Amino acid sequence: MLFIDFSRCCEKLEGISGRLEMIDIISRELPGLTDEELPIFVRFIMGRIFPDWSSQKLGIGPNLLYEAAGYVAGVKKENVITTINKTGDVGQAIEELLAEKSQTTFFHEQLDLVRVYRELTSIASQEGKKSQREKLLAVRRLLGNAHPLEGRYLARIMLEELRIGVGEGSVREAIAKAFSLDSGLVEHAMQALNDLGEVARRAKAGADALKDVHITPFHPVRMMLAQQGTIADMIADHGAVAAEFKYDGSRFQFHKKGNWARMYSRRLEDVTGALPDVIQQLLASTEHDVIIDGEVIAVKDGRPMPFQSVLRRFRRKHDVAEAQESIQLVPNVFDILYLDGATLIDLPFDERRRRLVSAVRFYIAPQVVSDNKETIEMTYREALDAGHEGIMLKVLSSPYTPGMRGKNWIKIKPAVDTLDLAVIGAEWGEGKRAHLFGSFLLACQKDGKLLPLSRVATGFSDEQLTEVYDLLKDAILSTSKKEVAFEPSLVFEVGYSEIQTSPTYEAGFALRFPRFIRIRDDKGITDIETLDGIRERYRQQAKGGGETVQK
Ligand code: AMP
Repeated sequence: MLFIDFSRCCEKLEGISGRLEMIDIISRELPGLTDEELPIFVRFIMGRIFPDWSSQKLGIGPNLLYEAAGYVAGVKKENVITTINKTGDVGQAIEELLAEKSQTTFFHEQLDLVRVYRELTSIASQEGKKSQREKLLAVRRLLGNAHPLEGRYLARIMLEELRIGVGEGSVREAIAKAFSLDSGLVEHAMQALNDLGEVARRAKAGADALKDVHITPFHPVRMMLAQQGTIADMIADHGAVAAEFKYDGSRFQFHKKGNWARMYSRRLEDVTGALPDVIQQLLASTEHDVIIDGEVIAVKDGRPMPFQSVLRRFRRKHDVAEAQESIQLVPNVFDILYLDGATLIDLPFDERRRRLVSAVRFYIAPQVVSDNKETIEMTYREALDAGHEGIMLKVLSSPYTPGMRGKNWIKIKPAVDTLDLAVIGAEWGEGKRAHLFGSFLLACQKDGKLLPLSRVATGFSDEQLTEVYDLLKDAILSTSKKEVAFEPSLVFEVGYSEIQTSPTYEAGFALRFPRFIRIRDDKGITDIETLDGIRERYRQQAKGGGETVQK
């Protein structure tokens, strides 16, 4: 396919907004393309150059592009920038500049799709000191042979933003339509291959080629994602489900084949170089060829640290050894997608889990399988007590669906909703916390009166408990057995998952899964939440539907 024909197709698509019409236009182009052109066309039309699994980058910044365009058009870089500001679009600006220039030049070597792709690949592979110069020359060469319209789309492809409104969903539909295939099949192939270009090539070969897809080590697939939901709904819908801690760190996908291993981040960047310690830990826990999915967390004195610490390590390019010493990372593995040549994503989760346990010795995230709400709630509390974010509930029969945020994985974590409440009492702690307060009685206000609402015992670090003790020890009004009452002075901000009606507390409401967030020393007792406010939140929540409010 000539690049000018590709550009005309883009121009046509840019002029319409109807999705069906777009799908129709693209689907009519596909059957006429060769096996080599098909993947390139499909990626280019989405403004991408390389397969989604690839970490290859073109490495052309706007500056380099403007400089090359200026050279080809015979104007200064500043003029290019002025034209961009005038038109509001790099592509149109370069088209305009090339149009002015082409009135004076007559010679063009015709560009075609494959040639453009090869040039871009060779640009991407330039490394080292002279690479910027080499890239500049290559971009000049491409633009120098481009018609104005080609220049518009070349420029936009080089910046990987085509601006013609064609999304992956439309291209998937177009592939299905072009080769009379089921779009579910196209989607499934995309999940395993993570390159719509290759999917199109297989689609052309027929349904069998499209069905017979496998994951390839070192071609990362997208991560399966989770939705919000409730424990009650999950059990009602599925019976027994798997509950795992929700670790607050960074997602990873670890690929190992023979002695070769790589690690990918949630955005599928290759982060192998930054995480040699994690790679070693995982290598030491399996002899098999695997692709496993997990979350890496930072740990200090046995407790998870805020996830920013992990991110810092993921981004590390220099002084990796030094960083390793200050932040210890621990992987938690919860899924397996590939084992010794076999693609496992279509197996049910419980079967994948069996294979995971058989193939990997350490770092597997513990799991509780139950259809009992209390059991799952206990796991949830354990997770929060251990400093994790919450729990994940997973449907045992579900396949692994890369890139999908479906209902097969549900996250349960304290809602971001918080209340400011007065601390009016406490119970002494137990064990090594016996000299401190362990759980606190909280109150809201109504007409100047404090009404007990809930207790909170979760979310405190040892330091925070000590700090709270110091602040409250002189405010004790009375003591009976393990209970103390305080002169109200301190305000806690607490998170909760739900407000319930309750006969236990005077306020008539109670908080579900209350969790200490912080001391509000900027607030006084008169600033705490009112009963009317809580009633209103309760009403809003009932209107929201999703949550089940129980007495
Ligand atoms: P969120 O980012 O809030 O949508 O929650 C989903 C994320 O939780 C996933 O992308 C993972 O990074 C993370 N996560 C932590 N623990 C687990 C687990 N046991 N299973 C799946 N995802 C987990």
